[in-house]
Amino acid sequence: MFTSIDKLPNKIVPDKPDPKAANALQEGLGGQFGEMRTMMQYLFQNMNFRGDAKAYQDLLRSIATEEMGHVELVSNTINMLLEGASAQADPEQLPLSVALESPNIHHFLVAGQSSRPVDAAGNPWSATYVYDSGNLVLNMLYNLILEATGRLQKCRLYEMSKNKAYRATVSYLIVRDLAHEKVFAKALETLGVNWNKTLPVPKIDTTKMPEVKELENRNLHNQQWTFTSEDSGLSKIFTGSSPFGDGEIETLDGIPEGAAIPNIPDAPQEFASGIDPVLKKQVNEIMTKRKTKLQQ
Ligand code: MN
Ligand code: MN
Repeated sequence: MFTSIDKLPNKIVPDKPDPKAANALQEGLGGQFGEMRTMMQYLFQNMNFRGDAKAYQDLLRSIATEEMGHVELVSNTINMLLEGASAQADPEQLPLSVALESPNIHHFLVAGQSSRPVDAAGNPWSATYVYDSGNLVLNMLYNLILEATGRLQKCRLYEMSKNKAYRATVSYLIVRDLAHEKVFAKALETLGVNWNKTLPVPKIDTTKMPEVKELENRNLHNQQWTFTSEDSGLSKIFTGSSPFGDGEIETLDGIPEGAAIPNIPDAPQEFASGIDPVLKKQVNEIMTKRKTKLQQ
């Protein structure tokens, strides 16, 4: 089972609203190589694991858990890019007319100016993306390709907008994808697969992306947290020097420090959250009751 922490894996740097960048980022959330896919793929590979090679199961569980946080990070970033795109006004003043100029009208029309489980072309996320063959070596090989393709797409996203909120998240994911490529590359090495003779990964140059470089200076591209307070076999596999020859690998117990989850205010023009003064009074009473209960 899983527990939750009221934090995001990385800070979203505040910047101006940008519905176009928000839509581009949908690919990183609900696309074929997005965070919902990595989360579900590693979860299923972990839950369906057969045999006693527990270290590999622990490895999958750690990354699956991290990917849940990535889903949360991308979703919140999309929300921040949409926040402020419209303002409260009388219906006659068309406060939501921005939706007609935005690439994803569903952000405004279906959701209350927020993220959707779809890709950048509006296709709903699909379970058919998930690869779990039941074969450990094939799964690890596929996972390496998945991370490498995810990173490639995020490097393309980087080149689409300079918005700081967008860049902070895209750069973080570029670096984490690289770390995950290394986890699966290491796993393949321990399973006797000479992957680097076959796969030209990683051959995507990010040295001219300053935000990425800054994160790599912290060795974030060589680290993997266990995302558990229990013992993990991850460190048995993820150890030594980087399989890509760029530093020393570190398995870290527990979770990253994290950053605050942004609080998005009510948007009355979207009828969201829809808590009017009467309901607000009721909600406040519940919140006070809960507080007293917690204090007891
Ligand atoms: Mn991810
Ligand atoms: Mn990943």
